[in-house]
Amino acid sequence: MSDLIELYQEVILDHTKSPRNFGNLEKATHIAEGHNPLCGDQVIVFLEMADGWIKNIRFEGKGCAISTASASMMTEVLKGKSPEEIYSTFELFHDLVTGKPAPKVDELGKLAAFAGVAAFPVRVKCATLAWHTVKAALKKQHRPVTTE
Ligand code: ZN
Repeated sequence: MSDLIELYQEVILDHTKSPRNFGNLEKATHIAEGHNPLCGDQVIVFLEMADGWIKNIRFEGKGCAISTASASMMTEVLKGKSPEEIYSTFELFHDLVTGKPAPKVDELGKLAAFAGVAAFPVRVKCATLAWHTVKAALKKQHRPVTTE
């Protein structure tokens, strides 16, 4: 088990050091901003929707290791998904990081790396900030999302 935890930490560290899909998206059709005042994390998510699917997704912002890695891995996972798939994936992810039984954890793929967050309730907001922001972007919510 400790090997597994180490592996997960490596995945998270890798995404913190070199975030994927980082930067502005010129063709964005949906944009939202999120803040986690508790930790100081800030994120802007850019979506390019086409035919009801996420054709492209990028993010900008600054924050702690968990929030950055979570946003980075989220963009990889959500590309090509529909809003319905995004909501159901977020539900699974939320169960995982809040320590609820997550029998379908396999469907999360590498997002399972965030299971350790459940031991640190204060970090749940860091791990879910980008997800809340994506939901706001899909709803075309202009007011910034805050986890408080
Ligand atoms: Zn944070």
